[in-house]
Amino acid sequence: MSVLEQEATLAEVFLKEIHDHKVPLSLGKTCPVKCAFCYEIDISYRKTFDTPLTTEDQWQFMLNHIHGVKDKEDDSWVWGGNEYMEWTDIFLHPKALDWMEEFLETTDKKVTMFTVGYVDPKRINRMAEKFPGRINFELSVITLSSYRKQLMPHAPTIDQVLEILDGPAVTSANFYSLGPDTMSKDAEIISRINKDCNIWVGCLTPLRYIDKDTTELMRQGERHLADEAQKMYDMDLPNSQMIHTQSYITAFLNRKKIIKVFDACELDKKDWVVAAGSVYRILNLFRKNRARYLYVPNATLGGDSDCSTLLTFSDVAKVLTNQTQVYLPKVIMERAADEEIDIAGETFDEFKAKFPRIRFKILHKANTYFSNRKLYEKGYVKNYVEDYIKNPLSKKFEAVPLPN
Ligand code: SF4
Repeated sequence: MSVLEQEATLAEVFLKEIHDHKVPLSLGKTCPVKCAFCYEIDISYRKTFDTPLTTEDQWQFMLNHIHGVKDKEDDSWVWGGNEYMEWTDIFLHPKALDWMEEFLETTDKKVTMFTVGYVDPKRINRMAEKFPGRINFELSVITLSSYRKQLMPHAPTIDQVLEILDGPAVTSANFYSLGPDTMSKDAEIISRINKDCNIWVGCLTPLRYIDKDTTELMRQGERHLADEAQKMYDMDLPNSQMIHTQSYITAFLNRKKIIKVFDACELDKKDWVVAAGSVYRILNLFRKNRARYLYVPNATLGGDSDCSTLLTFSDVAKVLTNQTQVYLPKVIMERAADEEIDIAGETFDEFKAKFPRIRFKILHKANTYFSNRKLYEKGYVKNYVEDYIKNPLSKKFEAVPLPN
């Protein structure tokens, strides 16, 4: 490829990310932090483009185009590209904070940033005061426990993370259950330092490419999740506390909404409907035989993943047999803003062309807005303790068998 062709391709990648409200800065290499749980360890399921370390000229190109985009009130720009390029901790880029300040100064837009803590605590807290309400800072604490070394040997120190938390910058801090006295202990420490930030907890999910020891540690966390959540509940911390990483919990807590959407689709008993594990269990428990449920495992991501949002067309293809008509939740094909495309980059048209004898219909109500907004409304630790841990119906839900 000539230099001119390379530049044209790069510009195209930047514009696609910008179109999806991502600020496509790049480190020019894979993320050097090398966290053992990183979901970018294997990105072979999707096509990404190598992007070099972002230069000042490239930044000005991005900023010019961002200036031209009209935002809606709720829009926020993600700092770093992740649709067509590899996700990294972009705050390792030496200019990341300077450019973020320029972005905030020259636009009225909001920004969402994710980092494991590669920001100068004083500067980021000053910036939060200078641009109130415009920086959504999601701090990936992951864990403050002794497992931190195993999971993220190159991450910032606990002291650095706590210093960042000691100020107005952090909007939400996420960390996980990895065993007894992990998540609950972290919650206590974090809440003592910062009573205003939202707390996001749950478990890390092993995917097929996560190594054996890390997978075992994640599963240990899952086994202790209920106890850890109960301890947090008993502490009655002032922070808002959400739990969203376990799709089965989210699905169960929102069973009434899922059923309402299902009923509104007015399906016939003989209709085939695609569902990942959690929704499959909900539908079998509360709407048995109201349609034919086609269980689709998350084969692309593998491991313990179970989420309709992360299903791919290739996952669906694996379970199709002699159906003539199949209903698909819209959420599968909403990776990009205006294209019908799955997380692996396959378009709906490409998928349909492979099965000319099957008629695919879309369940438009089962969309990203529903899964990201409506299902979040009941995702508090309080809901989990009161309506899942203490609810005998959740045991029945867990016992619904999935087809082999
Ligand atoms: S810092 Fe983020 S992107 Fe980098 S390895 Fe860790 S989890 Fe992955």
